[in-house]
Amino acid sequence: MSAPVANVVPAFDVESVRRDFPILDQQINGHPLVYLDNAATTQKPECVIEAISNYYRRDNANVHRGVHTLSDRATHAFEQARQTVANFLASRRVEQVIWTSGTTAAINLVAHSWGRSTLQPGDRVLVSWLEHHSNIVPWQLVAAATGAEVVPIPVTDAGEIDLQALAGLLDDRVKMVAVNHVSNALGTVNPVAEIIRLAKTVDALVLVDGAQSVAHWPVDVEAMGCDFFVMSGHKLFGPTGVGVLWGRESLLDAMPPYMGGGEMIERVAFPTTTFNVPPFKFEAGTPNIAGAIGLAAAIDYLGSLDRQAVMEHEAALLARTLELAEEVEGLRRVGTPAHSAGIFSFLLEGTHPSDVGMLLDQQGIAVRTGHHCAQPLMERLGIPGTVRASYSIYNTQEDVSRLFEGIHKAKRLFT
Ligand code: PMP
Repeated sequence: MSAPVANVVPAFDVESVRRDFPILDQQINGHPLVYLDNAATTQKPECVIEAISNYYRRDNANVHRGVHTLSDRATHAFEQARQTVANFLASRRVEQVIWTSGTTAAINLVAHSWGRSTLQPGDRVLVSWLEHHSNIVPWQLVAAATGAEVVPIPVTDAGEIDLQALAGLLDDRVKMVAVNHVSNALGTVNPVAEIIRLAKTVDALVLVDGAQSVAHWPVDVEAMGCDFFVMSGHKLFGPTGVGVLWGRESLLDAMPPYMGGGEMIERVAFPTTTFNVPPFKFEAGTPNIAGAIGLAAAIDYLGSLDRQAVMEHEAALLARTLELAEEVEGLRRVGTPAHSAGIFSFLLEGTHPSDVGMLLDQQGIAVRTGHHCAQPLMERLGIPGTVRASYSIYNTQEDVSRLFEGIHKAKRLFT
C-alpha cells in the first residue's frame, strides 16, 4: 500500500521573487548585495520600472481637462491608480484617496488643514514616543500656531505604547491621537484597534501612520476604524515622491484646502474663489502621474503574491535573526516588543553603530544606522542610535546568515 500523499502547499518561492527585482543581482564591494534597508525604502520590481517607463514612452500628458488622446490616457491611468489604492486599503469610496508626495506630506496635510482649522488653545494632540519625526513635527508646528499642545504617549522599555498611560491621558482636551502602525525604529506593531477604541471614548480622531505596515500585511482602513491613514509608495515597492492620505469622507468634506493652485478650485474669481470637492480639493498642481501609475503597478505586484506566505516568510527571517542574536555576546536587541514586523534594531557592545554599518557595507550588506528619524525614542531609551536591519519579501535565510557573519567580523575587529 502506498503512503498517503501529503497535501503539498508550495513554499513561498523567494528565488522567483528575487528575479523580479533587478537591482538585487549585483556585487557591492566584491560581495553579492544583501539589502537590509527596506524600512528606509524598498527595491522596485521590473513591472514597476516598466510601468513608469512605458507611461513616459507612450502616454505622457497632463491629467484632467485635456481634450486630446494622450491626456485622456494619462487621466484614465492616473484615476485607475487611485482606484487600485482604494481597493488596496479597502476604502469604501475612491474619493477618500488623496495623492500626496508621501507619508510626510500626508501628515502635514492633515495637521495644517484639519489642525489649523480645528485646534483651539488648550486642545491636545497625542503622539507616541515611538513616532517618526514626520508624525511629531507637523503637529508641533500647528500647535505653535493654534495654542494647542502636543503630548507624548509613554512607551515601555520593551518599546511598546503604554496603553494604560494612554488611557490616563485621554480626556476631552484630546482632539487627535496620531500613532504609527509599525515603528520604523524598532519594528513594534502597535495595537491600533485598541488605541482607536480608547481614543473614541473621548471622541478624539485617530491618524494611523502606515508607512511601515502596508508592505507587510493587508490593511483594511474601514475595519480598522481610523479617521486618517497615511502611507508612502516607496516603502511599498513603488516609486519615491508619491504617497497617499486616506480620510473619512465627512472630515475631508469639512476640511479647508491646504495648498492653493490649479486643480483644487471650482471657480477662481476676485475677490472670492470656490473649491473643488475631495480628493481634488487637496491636490493643487500637476500631480506625480508616473508615480501614481508606478505605485498601482507595485500594489498589483504585491497582490500577485500570497500575502499570508509573505508574512510567514518575513516572520521566519526575524525568528532566525533573534535566534542568532542570542548567540552573540555583547549584542543587545533594542526594543523587545511582543509583536514586531521585519525589523531588527541592535547595538553591539564597544562599537559605534556607524562603524558597524560601514563594516557591513564593505561586505556588501546594506543596513541603516543612527536615530532613524526617531530622536525622542532614542532619548527615551537612553541611546544615540542603533544598527537596523529590516527585511522584505526578497530577503533570504542566506541574507540573515550573511548579516551575522558580518556582525561576528565587527565584533572581532572592534572589540
Ligand atoms: N513614518 C514612518 C513610520 C516612517 O518609517 C517613515 C519613513 N522612514 C515616514 C513616516 C516618512 O515617510 P516619507 O519619508 O516617505 O514621507
